[in-house]
Amino acid sequence: EVRVRFAPSPTGYLHIGGLRTALYNYLFARKNGGKFILRIEDTDRTRFVEGAIENLINSLKWSGIDYDEGVFVENGKIVQKGDMGPYIQSERLEIYEKYVDELIEKGEAYYCFCTKERLDRVREEQRIKGQVPKYDGFCRGISLEEAKKRVAAGEEHVVRLKLPRNKDISFMDAVRGKVTINSDEMDDQVLMKSDGFPTYHLAVVVDDHLMKITHVVRGEEWLPSTPKHVYLFEALGWEAPEFVHLPTVLNKDRKKLSKRQGDVSVEDFRSRGYLPEGLVNYLALVGWSPEDGEEIMSMDEMIEKFTFERVGKSGGIFDKEKLNWVNAHYIKEYPLDAIAELSMPFVVDAGLMTEEEIEKKYDWYLLLIDTIRESLDVLEEVPEKISFLFGDLEVTEEDALNELKGGQVPDLIEAFKEELNEVDEVDMEFASGVMKKIQKKTGVKGKNLFMPVRAAISGNVHGPELKNIIVLLGKEGLLNRLNEVAK
Ligand code: GLU
Repeated sequence: EVRVRFAPSPTGYLHIGGLRTALYNYLFARKNGGKFILRIEDTDRTRFVEGAIENLINSLKWSGIDYDEGVFVENGKIVQKGDMGPYIQSERLEIYEKYVDELIEKGEAYYCFCTKERLDRVREEQRIKGQVPKYDGFCRGISLEEAKKRVAAGEEHVVRLKLPRNKDISFMDAVRGKVTINSDEMDDQVLMKSDGFPTYHLAVVVDDHLMKITHVVRGEEWLPSTPKHVYLFEALGWEAPEFVHLPTVLNKDRKKLSKRQGDVSVEDFRSRGYLPEGLVNYLALVGWSPEDGEEIMSMDEMIEKFTFERVGKSGGIFDKEKLNWVNAHYIKEYPLDAIAELSMPFVVDAGLMTEEEIEKKYDWYLLLIDTIRESLDVLEEVPEKISFLFGDLEVTEEDALNELKGGQVPDLIEAFKEELNEVDEVDMEFASGVMKKIQKKTGVKGKNLFMPVRAAISGNVHGPELKNIIVLLGKEGLLNRLNEVAK
């Protein structure tokens, strides 16, 4: 049975690179009828952030990525489900301790008492000699008996992996192929820190084994660590899982996507009005493509088409324009009331309408959103797209000003006002017929008719359906604007 895991560290938010890792794990698990596990890797206590686990889980949930085992939030509380827990590493310290002891007894790991000062000095000397800094093996020779005495006496220590000298370590990566590295190029990795917490490297190997993970799917920044993990699996007498290292998500300038350059967290994209389907569909394409070249895919379609063979080796470029294009597709596809609901906070925050006003004239609001939604890439654009319908008319666009200078404009305005005065209310039926009537009355037609009227009521020469604008402005709004232009 396929078992994969997403194993984030709770450092505050879910990076979209992390979301893509979660997504590929999810797609692979679902495609193969396997299990997907969420494990929290919180052994680096210096990086712990309050509320980070909840944030992570909320972001995954919003994205439509679900999992079968691990850490969940229910009624605002963190709960764990599954037979192979706990799934939060800080709750597994005794387990790690047991395996570290085993490694020490087997001679695969050793106590190291080197002080920070000594390690800094060694590293500095190596740097001056132009060598790659690594632990010089100073404590490798201490007998286990002596080391245990020093530990018992309370001397501060860590536990290090005792790598064999000059041994090639190889593994197969589903994306990279065969990777080989010589142990002489590797460090005697710290496995257990002086605070009694394991390092990532020990914890990840122990947990992937005990949780029966079959495929380790993660970002390629972990590729250099994998030989250590492979060696640890071997030293513990365990079979290593398959490895799949995903290309890094890069900016257009081929640099790693970082917080400094703008949005990187799932929450950032959500709060700007990207739809989960849009973000997830686009992210799937950053580093992977289906065989048929399809770009717009539902989750089910992606599950059906997903394979690691089609994951690229080189970094995936995160292209905002393409993301917007995909997102725009989903904005058009969504049910109107859902888009209207999701747009509400943007409208309210921009001060265009209050929530109560929206409630009161909900049908009007629905028409409003329907009128502009074709032009949206992201929901945060809603206020700028609708603002021309609020407040007094403002004509600033050069083309619109020119349209209003035409000699027939006063006649057009007069005819429009007359039509308005014939009715109590402006509805779709009125809006659909009024232009024809103005044409009959004035003899003006085509562009010469539509452009000035559009300019007079909306302040622009381009924009959404004219009849929608007419209905949205209503009788009073139209008369106000026409009178304003007539002045
Ligand atoms: N905790 C690691 C991270 O934050 C997980 C790496 C892995 O999947 O092994 O990315």
